Amino acid sequence: MNNKDEPPKLFGTSGIRGPIGTAVTADLALKMGKALSTLLGPGHDIVVGYDSRTSSQMLDKALIAGILEGGCNVLSLGMAPTPLVGYATMKLGDAGVMITASHNPPQDNGIKVWNKNGMAYRPNQEKELEKIISDETFSNGSWENIGKVKDIKNTSREYVKNLLNYAHIKPGLKVVVDCASGAASYLSPLVLRKAGCEVITLNSQPDGFFPGRLPEPSEANLQELMKMVKATQSDLGIAHDGDADRMIAIDEKGKMADFDKLVSLMAREVGGRVVTTVDASNSIDMCLEGKGEVIRTKVGDVHVAEAIEENDAFFGGEPSGTWIHPDFCMCPDGILSALRIAALVSEKGPLSKLLDEVPSFPTLREKINCEESQKKMIMEKTEAEFAKLFEDVSEVNLIDGVRLSLENGSWVLIRPSGTESYVRITLGGKTDLEAQKLMDKSKEFMKNLF
Ligand code: MG
Repeated sequence: MNNKDEPPKLFGTSGIRGPIGTAVTADLALKMGKALSTLLGPGHDIVVGYDSRTSSQMLDKALIAGILEGGCNVLSLGMAPTPLVGYATMKLGDAGVMITASHNPPQDNGIKVWNKNGMAYRPNQEKELEKIISDETFSNGSWENIGKVKDIKNTSREYVKNLLNYAHIKPGLKVVVDCASGAASYLSPLVLRKAGCEVITLNSQPDGFFPGRLPEPSEANLQELMKMVKATQSDLGIAHDGDADRMIAIDEKGKMADFDKLVSLMAREVGGRVVTTVDASNSIDMCLEGKGEVIRTKVGDVHVAEAIEENDAFFGGEPSGTWIHPDFCMCPDGILSALRIAALVSEKGPLSKLLDEVPSFPTLREKINCEESQKKMIMEKTEAEFAKLFEDVSEVNLIDGVRLSLENGSWVLIRPSGTESYVRITLGGKTDLEAQKLMDKSKEFMKNLF
């Protein structure tokens, strides 16, 4: 605890997440259910869904018991990807809860809470829940107003129907979908198939042991998918993380699409005002030149969602593959992202060619050890001194760390990690050589700060 007035922190940058049995327990889920009911007040409807992890049913039952005891009703989706929980919450609920640890290893699980409009709970809302749990100020319902459970599994039909209205794919596109045996194992292939694609599935049976690959859609974990795309001469490969708020694409040559280029491509396709995060490269700005405006915000889907609302933006995308399509729902949706990329490839592909047209910035990332107690001092010095090192700074962005844009399009970000004892340097140069020079200069600068 940092401050004696602050309740102990349970939520991280994307909900509660951690190992089952220690950080995340049935007891915590029960308390979270009671706290949410207390916060909303009795009689409200809370959508609940969970991913394919071995611990998810246990947490689901405990969370539901807590919600009911607090006097709210549960609209139960059972196993469902995060975007369906967000969608159902927007349509039917006063709040939503997704039980998932997203891309974390199988032994972890977590809880993420959603607002009525399908947008993730903001840090100040999470703090209210933390306070109720810490003070144990739960409002238990009396026997006559204990909540009820309603099964809303059928909502997935409406979700699929609405998705299909959203993107049109020319018939015959061949797509391999790898769901990691996660929560979208059934829905994502179904949606693409109904949209007219020829779909080949990989790891598309829900399994909490993740026998085919781990839930993180990293290059190392997607080797099988890349081979499969090539071997089957498919047009596209799609991979999700465990809860399918994210989507990663593989081109027709079996190569993983560069994250920055893919989000730039989608942003250009949508056009207008778009939101991205400070760790995204300047490819997106160059792609949108004359076609729209880029708004950069803090890293994390809740910040992207907030910036979309504030600026009335048409699209929000992080390079991680977490994309929000606000005219559909404020919850990041990896299934819709897949559908939109498939539509783009069917219309203007092949994907490798589309990606080649996006300006590229060789990107380098390094982490510098930095104790929690030093972070504030280091960032203050960085804010005051870093830009002075360069003669050609065109923009200084201080929204999350210090991000400099240089006149030729290169960029450097120095940002403290929110979860670990590091300060991160992320940058993109016009060439590999320039990127390396920028990294050397930034590291030298950091070294002199300590
Ligand atoms: Mg996720």
